[in-house]
Amino acid sequence: MPELPEVETIRRDLHKHLVGDKIEKVTLRRADIVCGDPQDFLAAVGGKRVLGTDRRGKAMWLSLEGDIAVGVHLRMTGRLLVVQNNDELPPHTHMLAEFSSGRRLIYVDPRRFGRLELLHLGRLDESVILRNIGLDALSEALSAEELLAAALAHSVGIKQFLLDQSHLAGIGNIYASEILYRVGLHPATPANRVTAKEMQTIVDVTREVLQEAIDACGTTLGDSQYQTGLGQSGGYQRCLWVYGKAGQNCPVPGCVGVIRRRKIAQRSTYFCPVCQARGQRRRGKRQARPE
Ligand SMILES: [Zn+2]
Repeated sequence: MPELPEVETIRRDLHKHLVGDKIEKVTLRRADIVCGDPQDFLAAVGGKRVLGTDRRGKAMWLSLEGDIAVGVHLRMTGRLLVVQNNDELPPHTHMLAEFSSGRRLIYVDPRRFGRLELLHLGRLDESVILRNIGLDALSEALSAEELLAAALAHSVGIKQFLLDQSHLAGIGNIYASEILYRVGLHPATPANRVTAKEMQTIVDVTREVLQEAIDACGTTLGDSQYQTGLGQSGGYQRCLWVYGKAGQNCPVPGCVGVIRRRKIAQRSTYFCPVCQARGQRRRGKRQARPE
């Protein structure tokens, strides 16, 4: 599933190639990928010029004339690709937008969990794809103090807490494992037992890891459908420390640990039991209020 670095890479490609261009015609081959009325969607975006792009967590949008935007959440297998008008369309192309320049933007999604949505820029919080999406993980407004305060109400493991998009938006399964490995904290450490110092390290390392992954154009693993907005693979899979590496020796020089894979909240979690021993024996505080 594309996470923040992958969606940001796609956003940058779309920004570079589509801003200033005008949408001449939009064709929906499957209407059920649109949240809301597909006819309203088509009527609103046709003939509009792209003014900019933006992103919050794993959701992104193309801002158009008239204070509206085309919002996109790729979910599991969605892809947004800029192609030329004579390029053959890949299987599972569900939306095709033709631009004045002759470029096309296509939405491809074999499993069809992804969604397009007509957004109103003054009322973003009412949208379906942005519902319950918290602060972007790369936002400068993100503070360890506020994240720590949010974590106090949760006894789930810190990895599961980081995956909850309502606290911090953009981190998924791959980067959660990578971040906690670099922090040196066990993924099952109860969120409400993470110390202030550890949370500060989590915030700092999150910025580092996500930025490095953006610089490498995201992670394309063997089973993933992720491609950049121009149809290329990312490069960060060559930089991963633990994700997908169960049974291999920990890459930290001198560490005798072997990377383990464990299911936490139904998601595969990778960690080094030696480097990340810290936190595993802590028990969650009793909850003052329900989760
Ligand atoms: Zn280790």
